[in-house]
Amino acid sequence: MKNILAYCRPGFEKDCAAELAQVSSEKGFYGYAKVVPDAGYVIFCFDQTEEIEGLIKQLDFNRLIFARQIIAINDLVDLEPGARVESLLEAARQLPLAEEVWVETADTNDAKALSGLIKKLDKPLRLGWKKSGVLRNKAVGVRHHVFLLDGENAYLGVSYAACRSEFPMGIRRLRFPAAGPSRSTLKLEEAFLQFIPEQKRATDLVEGMWAVDLGAAPGGWAYQFVKRNIHVIAVDNGPMQKALMSTGLVEHEKADGFKFEPPYTVDWLVCDMVERPIMVAELMAKWLANRWTHRAIFNLKLPMKKRYQEVMLCLELIENHLKKAGVAYHYQAKHLYHDREEITICIIAQ
Ligand code: SAM
Repeated sequence: MKNILAYCRPGFEKDCAAELAQVSSEKGFYGYAKVVPDAGYVIFCFDQTEEIEGLIKQLDFNRLIFARQIIAINDLVDLEPGARVESLLEAARQLPLAEEVWVETADTNDAKALSGLIKKLDKPLRLGWKKSGVLRNKAVGVRHHVFLLDGENAYLGVSYAACRSEFPMGIRRLRFPAAGPSRSTLKLEEAFLQFIPEQKRATDLVEGMWAVDLGAAPGGWAYQFVKRNIHVIAVDNGPMQKALMSTGLVEHEKADGFKFEPPYTVDWLVCDMVERPIMVAELMAKWLANRWTHRAIFNLKLPMKKRYQEVMLCLELIENHLKKAGVAYHYQAKHLYHDREEITICIIAQ
């Protein structure tokens, strides 16, 4: 396979393409992106004759910010009306064997209209794959993805366990909790699931800890701590949800999040203030450099055009500050499903 198809949030195609260009060139793979605005995916075409699986296997999916999923693809498959499964099966014979096959679309309104076709195709497709021997249990970690563009065209691709999302369409769907003070609560819930491995959650998110939440009102992020019996200092001039305050676990500080200093080192710092990304990055770096916390999760709001470049500037600033302060750390950055014009970063200092 020669090309990569990356799924992303509609409207973020250019950022996804800029990132793919950067990370692939770092690995010695060069090419160009085909970007259709608001398509919800990007095709990245490579110049070399080598197979692109080599690149995908070198990438760390958790290090990709804007791609929700990446698959290696060949050319577009024409779906013959009345023989769609057969058309796809013919193309599948050119691919490595797989242990499963998923039918997906982009995350767009247009693509939602294809849900009926997906349901119709799903069973016969799997049966066809099985019967023809393309689907094999021994093909561990290899998955085929049928990415439907419409009723007549699809890309057929392959993903590898070492570098992919395990969620259909690359989307981690979460249920909004009835007691949640705001929909934003899903952003922090998704961030915890994305950034803190399951076995670490038992030590990193435990009862009795203290968190500071900058820009906390009305309390969606604080709610995620409170439900784990973690104390929160909620910094915001705006009002907090009454039910959350009545738990006794939240202290409301009506203060400026840029000026607030914690009375002692806290276990977590989170920040959802709507501010310029570089200002937030500077603030986060200050907290970590001063060792006021050693874990931080924050959003960078990205209303500008060149979002990838802006994120890189912020990460560079943080790196410079923490290097100077002698703080070793690791980070992940992700455009989460519940994020909109923003991305989420998690930094854990040692
Ligand atoms: N995370 C919150 C939740 O889940 O409910 C939503 C936060 S909302 C997107 C942004 C909040 O940041 C607003 O409540 C606003 O008052 C607060 N904010 C903006 N600038 C601030 C500042 N300099 N200091 C403190 N709060 C600030």
